[in-house]
Amino acid sequence: MPVGTHAAVRAQRREDLLDSGVQVLLANTYHLLLRPGLEIFEKFAGIHGFMNWPRSVLTDSGGFQIFSLPGSRTMREEGAEFRSYVDRQTVHLSPERSIAAQKSIGADIMMVLDQCVPSTVDHSAAKAAMDLTHRWARRCLTARGDGAQALFGIVQGASYPDLRRESARVISDMPFDGFAIGGLAVGETAAEREECTGIVTESLPQDRPRYLMGVGTTRDLLEAVHRGVDMFDCILPTALAKQGVAFTSLGRRDLRRAAYRGVDAPIDPNCTCHTCTTYSIAYLWHLQRVHETQGWQLLGLHNIHFYQELMRRMRGHILAGTWLDFYRAQRDVLDARDSYGPAVTHVTRAQRRKLALRRGRYEVVARDGVGHIRDMRSGEIMHPVDDPQEEARSLYVGPARLAERLQADESVPLVIWDVGLGAAANAMATILVAEGLARAPAVAAARALRPLSLLSFENDLDSLLLALQQIDLFPYLRHAAPHLLAVEHRWAARAAGIEWRLLPGDFRASKFAAPPPDIIYFDPFSFKTDSDLWSLSAFRELAQVCATSATELFTYTYSTSVRAAMLAAGFYVAKGSATGPKAETTIALSPRAAAGPHGRELLGEEWLAKWRRSDARVPFGADPEDPSWQEAISGHPQFHTRA
Ligand SMILES: [Zn+2]
Repeated sequence: MPVGTHAAVRAQRREDLLDSGVQVLLANTYHLLLRPGLEIFEKFAGIHGFMNWPRSVLTDSGGFQIFSLPGSRTMREEGAEFRSYVDRQTVHLSPERSIAAQKSIGADIMMVLDQCVPSTVDHSAAKAAMDLTHRWARRCLTARGDGAQALFGIVQGASYPDLRRESARVISDMPFDGFAIGGLAVGETAAEREECTGIVTESLPQDRPRYLMGVGTTRDLLEAVHRGVDMFDCILPTALAKQGVAFTSLGRRDLRRAAYRGVDAPIDPNCTCHTCTTYSIAYLWHLQRVHETQGWQLLGLHNIHFYQELMRRMRGHILAGTWLDFYRAQRDVLDARDSYGPAVTHVTRAQRRKLALRRGRYEVVARDGVGHIRDMRSGEIMHPVDDPQEEARSLYVGPARLAERLQADESVPLVIWDVGLGAAANAMATILVAEGLARAPAVAAARALRPLSLLSFENDLDSLLLALQQIDLFPYLRHAAPHLLAVEHRWAARAAGIEWRLLPGDFRASKFAAPPPDIIYFDPFSFKTDSDLWSLSAFRELAQVCATSATELFTYTYSTSVRAAMLAAGFYVAKGSATGPKAETTIALSPRAAAGPHGRELLGEEWLAKWRRSDARVPFGADPEDPSWQEAISGHPQFHTRA
């Protein structure tokens, strides 16, 4: 429920709210009681007539505002007394008066008057407030009578599990139409809030709506839905929009950051809202910068749309039985950058800048405006060259003769395995070549290109997500494909015949589920970081998968023990071209690829002689004493073609 405290959602038009699929608005009894006053609602036949809102309205009872707004107030058994912030008059709000007001406002869902206390109060104060809330709940039910408007009870009990359990039991024994969890989002930690939510939802009836009041971020919603909550209200989508913050499928984006200046992409590439389909980040960044109201309005519209869409997607996954997969996949993605709350106040600006450049085990290192991904555990930098796109072309895309092979007259897709997606440098270089070909008039006129099936293998998406967050440093990612791949694990350009899929998880397991490759870009971190992928047994498995296809594998290393592992596994091994700082690289060919006219420069007797003398002659992970790999290399047919 978007929050329309004063019978309006801040800076939003009703048409946009209706378009985004909003079903219920939240309005506030306390504020509406003071302004415009109940007589206005009586004149307009309630809030629906007054604001011309055709869908449902839920009204908060005023309990939370009495607790949270400054000024004098007294709580008695009878009700609460407080000074109006409008005209300083004393206002009395009892359970009966609150229900009468909500009836006049014409809410479809009314809330009981409750007593909120800070999450830090001691047990006896929390219990007193809870007991009073229970007595008021009964009075609200009586005051509601048999009217048609629904009435929800509210569970209180601060952060005390025993009180929360007791309150859930007492309130759910009363004949309410739905049940709310109140008194959260008032200073407790996210973990406390989640624990508390779980305790309460366990005790609530399954067949009535559960409503977590005043919560929260997109991640809070995910966690609460996981614990059985159905409804939420929160001002964050509109309040943070005013500050320039958007919730997106890639996490939270803060348009106050200079990094977004001039970025020509929608704020959420996966969103279909008016803002995302009409304006670039650059424009929204500018509006924010000049304090233009439209910036607030457009970001708020997106945020509300995103929240509604998130709820629809969560509902869809629950109904489809795929909730757990969705929940696990989204936990670290939703609201990825930060969370509201006090945790970051002691972090200095410089530290915050540094933190924004880190994610999981990776960090971004910027050199002369070019971003590189560094594995913080091993210290290794992916593509440490000046231009990762240039390296992708000279080491993988070029030598693989991608352009030539895509122009072959074939209808079977060319299958490329991109092992070690990283920040998608190789994959994007491939897609850009394929798209360029599809656009070239000569090609387009002649005939369709061979379809391309690009499969990226990655066990940790953090490097891509990090690069997408720092997109200024990774300009080749300014394309819909990597954004969609990160979220949906798939992107396709049907007209150009390109399909890109992500196979998450461990390559050693996931490769068995993939179609056999024509080309492999073998670009994981080195054996220092990803030792398991470079071992003799890993290459033996790979040889088995490529046994019946003509596969060429390209990799950046020319290490003797890697080449030994490839040869011992049954690959033919050729010299790859020099690139950047590397004098040589390596190409491995499956026996079928080697049997054809491949034009590669296979390693010869000279290499074999060097290998025999080398300290690095043992393939990674092989038993040095095992004769089988030594015989396989010495007797490899590539060294005995003339015999
Ligand atoms: Zn949007």
